[in-house]
Amino acid sequence: MESKEIINSLKTFLEGEKLAGIKEFFSPSISPSQQLKLLSQKVHQCAKCPLAKTKKHYVFGEGDNQAVLLFVGEAPGGEEDKQGKPFVGRAGQLLTRIIQSIGFKREDVYIANILKCRPPENRNPLPSEIENCLPYLKEQIKIIRPQIICTLGKFAAQTLLGVVTPISQLRGKFYDYEGIKLIPTFHPAYLLRNPQGKVPVWQDMKKIKDELRPNCLRPSGR
Ligand code: SF4
Repeated sequence: MESKEIINSLKTFLEGEKLAGIKEFFSPSISPSQQLKLLSQKVHQCAKCPLAKTKKHYVFGEGDNQAVLLFVGEAPGGEEDKQGKPFVGRAGQLLTRIIQSIGFKREDVYIANILKCRPPENRNPLPSEIENCLPYLKEQIKIIRPQIICTLGKFAAQTLLGVVTPISQLRGKFYDYEGIKLIPTFHPAYLLRNPQGKVPVWQDMKKIKDELRPNCLRPSGR
């Protein structure tokens, strides 16, 4: 086939995808790390909400792009905004110790947030910001396909589960998120202010460890 023909048939295919409402298209031959790289590039050009103007750095997320365990927090804080990395402040150091408590290294898991830009003064995310940014996290989840998602704090749990139930009632139980087990727990920043929350978080981590133990190997083909 001549190059003009190839371009024309690709154009026809992509137009068909567009008509079918498919906005994201990644070829199955692209590896998860390449897919995440492309998505990260897209996030780094995003100006869908005003946070793009107030943030210092986008915080896309980081970790093993085929991790069995994905942690999802709310939004970058001051230190994360400065470094462009998720969970690197005091709460992040505590999260690293929580991850290690169940036998993982930080780089074995994936860590991301609902919002990729810091809300000024660490205020709560606005519903419009969540709506604009959530598709990026959903795409990350589709690419990584973890066995378990552990949400940190109320915003991540309520957003992914589509509920308004308080985190104290949601935590510690497994729910279904598009065929993936999801367990909410308290946010490490909450634990810094309320050390009594460490026991329930430890119990939640034990549940994750027990759930992963028999399934630690990925299904073949990953
Ligand atoms: S918070 Fe999300 S939607 Fe808003 S500008 Fe940043 S990346 Fe885009």
